Amino acid sequence: TATKPRQPELKTSLPGPKSKAIIERDKTHLSTSYMRPYPFVPDHGEGVWLTDADGNTMLDFFAGIAVTTAGHAHPHVVKAVQDEVTKFTHVCLTDYPQEITTSLAERLLKHVEKDGEKWRVFFGNSGAEAVEAAVKLARNHTGRTHIISTMGSFHGRTYGAITLTGSKTKYKRGFGPLLPAVSHVPYPNPFRPPLGSTPETCAQAVIDYIENLFVGVIPADEVAAIIVEPMQGEGGYIVPPADFLPKLRALCDKHGIMLIFDEVQAGMGRTGKMFSFQHFDVQPDMITVAKGIASGMPISALLAKESVMTWPVGSHGSTFGGNPVSAAAAHATLDLLEGVVKHDGCGENLMSNAEQVGSYIMGELKKMQADYPFLGDVRGRGFFIGMEFVKPDGSPDGKLRDKASYRMFEKGLLNLDCGEAVIRISPPLILTREEAETGLGIMREVFEELK
Ligand code: PMP
Repeated sequence: TATKPRQPELKTSLPGPKSKAIIERDKTHLSTSYMRPYPFVPDHGEGVWLTDADGNTMLDFFAGIAVTTAGHAHPHVVKAVQDEVTKFTHVCLTDYPQEITTSLAERLLKHVEKDGEKWRVFFGNSGAEAVEAAVKLARNHTGRTHIISTMGSFHGRTYGAITLTGSKTKYKRGFGPLLPAVSHVPYPNPFRPPLGSTPETCAQAVIDYIENLFVGVIPADEVAAIIVEPMQGEGGYIVPPADFLPKLRALCDKHGIMLIFDEVQAGMGRTGKMFSFQHFDVQPDMITVAKGIASGMPISALLAKESVMTWPVGSHGSTFGGNPVSAAAAHATLDLLEGVVKHDGCGENLMSNAEQVGSYIMGELKKMQADYPFLGDVRGRGFFIGMEFVKPDGSPDGKLRDKASYRMFEKGLLNLDCGEAVIRISPPLILTREEAETGLGIMREVFEELK
């Protein structure tokens, strides 16, 4: 069922009285660490639309941070959850097998297994948990300790994951000491090439940098894994050059290092393919997924080659990981992603919709760059799109980004920042071209104001 496009109105009256009261209670009783960028109190959703406690409806280009693949309250997902919840809500996958999680694993593996090589799945609850599992498995399997991550990365906020994270110091300040034996290397951002390189040479520059670390800083035979986002999310929605991941694969093979792709944000169809690394000619040893896998129900997965998932019985587990109700939501999400169940107005399946409507949005934004020079870069794949705001001298303009983001919000478009000066476009994968036009219309209005 397609949701009807509605033209959002200017939301200068936000927050309304009901929202205001909730905001006050939230401020009083909930964690001081929560960010509250906008005075919006979601009450319910339908498709790509979110309505607040006072009845204000917003167009959702944020999708709960790239989570609600099928949009809000998708009838197919709702039914799957309802059907499963009447059976039981929990048993504990660490101790007992269940058909729904077994078949979910088999289904996920179909999207990664190739050349006759078998893989296995460990289920957790969150992205950070999948990342932690990947690091534990890499150390356990290789008998090595060191982990290499990238600058600008985000891998979560538990101790291991936060150590790997390389995007903002506020995530680490005051929380140390962190995990030992973790190093960070630059990410090859073609718009801002590191190490004095160019867009064409930045991948090789990063590879050379790592090889140099192995000469004088870290013994390569003590490195268990390199973890990388095949397309960097929180760091600014960055797509690396096509040669980066294959070169990283070759480097890992040369030194016996596990290659972990963190697909928590870009995976599960968001970029137009099931996993973002599938845009490149490369195969990792492990993959972490979460966010979009179950359209908002909490479940994550670590996928690893069978030859790698060698940790002993009982060495790793989780009470809630692989919850059957979440697994049902994941099956329903996969139905839509694979096109087993069609969503009206979204063509073959949600992945092809992300590819097509995402390309349309990218194309329109690229055209707008001519009129609005502060749009320094527009990049991405599918519904994983970043637009970077720049000053006339080309440096990142975080202040202008913040202003643009807030005006879009006031005009009824929920969006979210990332990186230093980037707005990310990460809508539910059911977004139609018509709904995309509504969002683009709001962006154009805001860019006109900022000109
Ligand atoms: N990895 C990546 C690439 C992410 O984007 C995130 C969340 N933004 C995480 C891991 C952590 O996921 P979670 O918040 O579910 O722990």
